[in-house]
Amino acid sequence: MTRRPFLASRLQGFGTTIFAEMSALAAQTGALNLGQGFPDSDGPDEVKQVAIDSIFAGVNQYPPGPGTMDLRRAIGEHQKRFYGIDLDPTDEVLVTAGATEALAASYLGLCEVGDEVVAFDPTYDSYAAGISMAGAVLKPVPLLPQDDGSFGFDDEELRRAFSPKTRLLMLNTPHNPTGKVFNRSELQLLAELCQEHDVIAVVDEVYEHMVFSGTHVPLATLPGMAERTISIGSAGKMFSFTGWKVGWATGPAPIVSAIRTAKQFLTFVNGAPFQPAVAVGLRLGDDYFATLGQQMADKKDLLCDKLDQAGFTVLEPEGTYFVTADISPVTAKKSVEFCLALPEEAGVVAVPCSVFYQDDRLGERHIRFCFAKSDAFLAEAGERLISAYG
Ligand SMILES: *Cc1c(COP(=O)(O)O)cnc(C)c1O
Repeated sequence: MTRRPFLASRLQGFGTTIFAEMSALAAQTGALNLGQGFPDSDGPDEVKQVAIDSIFAGVNQYPPGPGTMDLRRAIGEHQKRFYGIDLDPTDEVLVTAGATEALAASYLGLCEVGDEVVAFDPTYDSYAAGISMAGAVLKPVPLLPQDDGSFGFDDEELRRAFSPKTRLLMLNTPHNPTGKVFNRSELQLLAELCQEHDVIAVVDEVYEHMVFSGTHVPLATLPGMAERTISIGSAGKMFSFTGWKVGWATGPAPIVSAIRTAKQFLTFVNGAPFQPAVAVGLRLGDDYFATLGQQMADKKDLLCDKLDQAGFTVLEPEGTYFVTADISPVTAKKSVEFCLALPEEAGVVAVPCSVFYQDDRLGERHIRFCFAKSDAFLAEAGERLISAYG
């Protein structure tokens, strides 16, 4: 037996997430799982049918490295239709194994060891691990609940996070887990800082069509930002096919090329029969995207109302399919303790927000619920919470 530790130091502290523990608890207790972020119903049949037909038509071998030309075109058309962004599908669009690979390949392809990445804290859980695997250093800027129930940051704290070592700004809007949609003036400040410090912005926009108040503004559309911004999307989130793992990165050719260089030695390619299906999805009419947003808005209202009746302080999200609740009115427990007891106590699973913060004290009072579930499921989970705490 080797006497050395197995886990590389870059990954220490990223061993097992609480998600596995919570999902095991859900399975054991039969609790309703509003913890993990995935929808409980599939996306459009017409999109599924293209994947099935593609398999039988023999679309089963390696697709082209950057993705099929037709899918790259469809991604470009989507960016043009919704945001007026012009992209050349030959070298400004890259298909990836989900948004996750686009993120990992961005850190690996763009960062030197020791470079710094500024990101708002809390972050989606893959950011810190991906940044660490690239040998880069995460510089967190706290995003905290404000008196009006929204999430905000301190401008000075953001400014101080930027330094000569900053290589990337890692922005997620609409933001998981807080549900924050960054507004134009916040984006303007970020744009100024990126330009002042010659930083590349990597923007995770996987919830772009799930916005309930305000509008999603891609950072790439701000003056001076197209030349230094990578926008990342996900068919998993956009079409409710999270298991297909098709995502994309778009932006200026030299940056996309650097990301592609890393990507080609990660997965090389993925999802041959899913790529034509996602292209069909991206070309669905505006009504598909509007309906997706409206359905999520209704689910958000349904769950927020129940959480409110159960006594939680609800921090109503502006986008995404997550809602954060402050547990202070119903318990003195910390969020981790509360979530570990929740399946037994109420028959519901939620995630403690401390797991998303670098400084885990910051999420001690908050828990996150996913509402991309059927109305009946949300109503039942809500009733359980009301009878346990209401
Ligand atoms: C789900 C999610 C991802 C990952 O998307 P995949 O396409 O499944 O890899 C990335 N970022 C955020 C914020 C997410 O919620």
